[in-house]
Amino acid sequence: MPPFLCCVSFLRGPVGTHPLRPVESARTHVMSVTAQNKLLSFAEARQVAEKYAGTLAPTEPELTNLLDAVGLVLAEDLLADRDFPPFPRATRDGYAVRAADVQSVPAELRNVGSIKAGACTDDSDVTAGTSECIEIMTGAPVPSGVDAVVMIEYTTVSGDKVTVSRGVKARENVVAAGAEARRGDVMVRRGARLHHAAVAIAAAVGRPELAVHRRPHVAVLATGDELVDINLPPGPNEIRNSNTYSLAAQVNEAGGEAMLLPVARDEADEIALLLGKGLNADLLLLTGGVSMGKYDLVEEVLASLGAEFFFTGVAIQPGKPVVFGQIKLDGKTTPFFGLPGNPVSTMVTFQLFVRPVLDALGGSAPEPLPFAQAKLKQPLTTKTGLTRFLPARLGGMPENPEVELVRWQGSGDLMAASRANCYIVVPPDRDRFEKGEVISILLF
Ligand code: AMP
Ligand code: MG
Repeated sequence: MPPFLCCVSFLRGPVGTHPLRPVESARTHVMSVTAQNKLLSFAEARQVAEKYAGTLAPTEPELTNLLDAVGLVLAEDLLADRDFPPFPRATRDGYAVRAADVQSVPAELRNVGSIKAGACTDDSDVTAGTSECIEIMTGAPVPSGVDAVVMIEYTTVSGDKVTVSRGVKARENVVAAGAEARRGDVMVRRGARLHHAAVAIAAAVGRPELAVHRRPHVAVLATGDELVDINLPPGPNEIRNSNTYSLAAQVNEAGGEAMLLPVARDEADEIALLLGKGLNADLLLLTGGVSMGKYDLVEEVLASLGAEFFFTGVAIQPGKPVVFGQIKLDGKTTPFFGLPGNPVSTMVTFQLFVRPVLDALGGSAPEPLPFAQAKLKQPLTTKTGLTRFLPARLGGMPENPEVELVRWQGSGDLMAASRANCYIVVPPDRDRFEKGEVISILLF
């Protein structure tokens, strides 16, 4: 059991409900702020996160069942255990022919046999002579003596007479043995994330277990006096803690293992206590408490623990107060992010800055952000100064992708986030885009 899990049982107790306390108590343990104000542009901050990611050692490899490894990162090269394909493979149902026999059409050939996929050697030993052909199925071995497959659609059959109405070139509709990979070739490289296509390769080379990097443990700590956890009834002026769960979902989707800490009240000693638990993880994510408010204590607490800050704000909206740094404690260095508490800010800043760090811990190079372009369906007006990531919906046809903002009440609007499938990215020097203009988008 990783040491981090020990603290999870401590976390199971009732958390989240607390009577209103006098406001003075919030700063009882105020710590001195040593974090410099480091406000970066979006591009600078992304670069900082990627550069830092490049310095991280990945988690250790472990042998994992193929389907449990989906979404994780290969810690070994996947090698071809035989040629791919292992035999010359027909890619169409039809007739195996010599291409030379069907150069002038219609051409009449005599069918001398039939080969199905998985055919035993005897069947595929059937060979065709001049003006002969062999019925063949997709996935079947193409016998010697023929060099192409005519699709069944271009034939008419009467008894053993096959009339071909369209010629083929040599090797057409046949994949030569070893054309995709030779035995011993690397089919998927170490460091690749295992999505369904790589899983297919692992299956094809007969690997029920693979060496993949362990899921990085990511501690998630929400802060805020107004928050109650989802199994408790909120008071009239309280809200349920949704960030812990959206973040855990993002972490798990990205190949991490979220470790949920209970909500910390806006009190320095409580934040420090829970934050200390989170430092056992490979990465610590905090939400809330990083803005300018009187009870936004997260940065102060981090600073009091000797944190090194790489940035303490990014010129973006939503998500401007985002904080990134690392803490060295007892010989262990733990990267952390203080994400703004507004739910959409939390989601955006995870994708923009946390993701490359999590990728690196999990063993892969940071994936580039999935930017694309689409035409605006409506004009867009905003203010200059910040790079904006505004929840939007991408639609339209392949030749004409269109995007429009979803209606939203600002960075706290969960419904807007759930209706969106991308963000419109507005550069900091533009305050207006016209209907029909092409604009950048960031896909989820
Ligand atoms: P903060 O970043 O702490 O100033 O919070 C900004 C806004 O986000 C406030 O309206 C908070 O109530 C809300 N918020 C903070 N943390 C959470 C959370 N864990 N779940 C849902 N909303 C939150
Ligand atoms: Mg707060």
